[in-house]
Amino acid sequence: MEKLTLALVAHDAKKDDMAHFAATHEAILRPFTLFATGTTGGRIMERCPTLSITRLKSGPLGGDQQIGAMIAEGKIDALFFFVDPLSPHPHDVDVKALMRLALVYNIPMALNLATAERLIASFKD
Ligand code: PGA
Repeated sequence: MEKLTLALVAHDAKKDDMAHFAATHEAILRPFTLFATGTTGGRIMERCPTLSITRLKSGPLGGDQQIGAMIAEGKIDALFFFVDPLSPHPHDVDVKALMRLALVYNIPMALNLATAERLIASFKD
């Protein structure tokens, strides 16, 4: 498998799910280049000390937009974005913009755990 670059983002209510997901699939994720928004990346690294993750700004402070820009530049192969659909977010426009760029550039985008499990399974081997 080529060395993919993955982006990981989780809203606050989904950060436990993201940390658990990363820990469950730590061996699959280890060889890849990983980027995450600030807090999400911190939570994953606490849980998964063997993963090397480049942490961008926190989502509400521009991290979602940084990942969007990387998608536009062709630098991200897949996006794992665990969205909380039950809470308002001050950076809702950034959240929408990130999803929109993943659609525009047609990269795989997992917005919930069920899809993430299927997407990560496709990266085995
Ligand atoms: P965070 O950003 O990982 O810094 O919390 C994620 C987001 O809420 O977009």
